[in-house]
Amino acid sequence: MPHDHDAGRLSRRRLIGGTLAASTTALGAAAFASAAPAVAGSSAGFRWCNRCQGMWFRSSGDSGHCPVHHWWDHSHYEEGSGTYWFTDGTPQPGQDRFGMLALKWCLTCKAAYFSGGRGVCPNNENGHTPSARTFRIETDLQPPLSNFPKQGGWCRCRRCRALFYLPHLGRSHCPAATGPTPWHDGAYVRTGSGWRYENHLPRLK
Ligand SMILES: [Zn+2]
Ligand SMILES: [Zn+2]
Ligand SMILES: [Zn+2]
Repeated sequence: MPHDHDAGRLSRRRLIGGTLAASTTALGAAAFASAAPAVAGSSAGFRWCNRCQGMWFRSSGDSGHCPVHHWWDHSHYEEGSGTYWFTDGTPQPGQDRFGMLALKWCLTCKAAYFSGGRGVCPNNENGHTPSARTFRIETDLQPPLSNFPKQGGWCRCRRCRALFYLPHLGRSHCPAATGPTPWHDGAYVRTGSGWRYENHLPRLK
């Protein structure tokens, strides 16, 4: 079971069957040289937060509400992040439709999260407040995958619904967590030989 493993000891093979595309320490975009084309119906406003390890939407006027915070600072951070981009549910003719149409961002905390429920928001007892737009996220749950540069290893939290970077699980912070470990609770899928975490692959510019 996932709970039995310290995040620092999780191997790449265990995580996602060898498809992890990125180093566990380098989240910058330097290794991804080719630029993705700008297309209508997409947004490149998503960033990784090095405090909570979640994906968040930074292009909506403020830096939201990070589940890791001090009383004077509840911002998500974007230092060290690559530029992540997603297409939305209104593809132009000829635009790709890879992945699941499932990702929203919260108008309150700015976390990117999986629709289908409101999850748990660090700043709203009623859960996340859904954005109008829904974005596609490429995932091994719904192949095939595009040829755009991507970063594997992202996972869905079963409790708060956030999209977070699984190799940093032990440094993650879930607004729904209780007890001594504040980590997200990664969603996993059962396979013939056991289980593995879901692997979502946001696109990197
Ligand atoms: Zn954060
Ligand atoms: Zn929220
Ligand atoms: Zn969570």
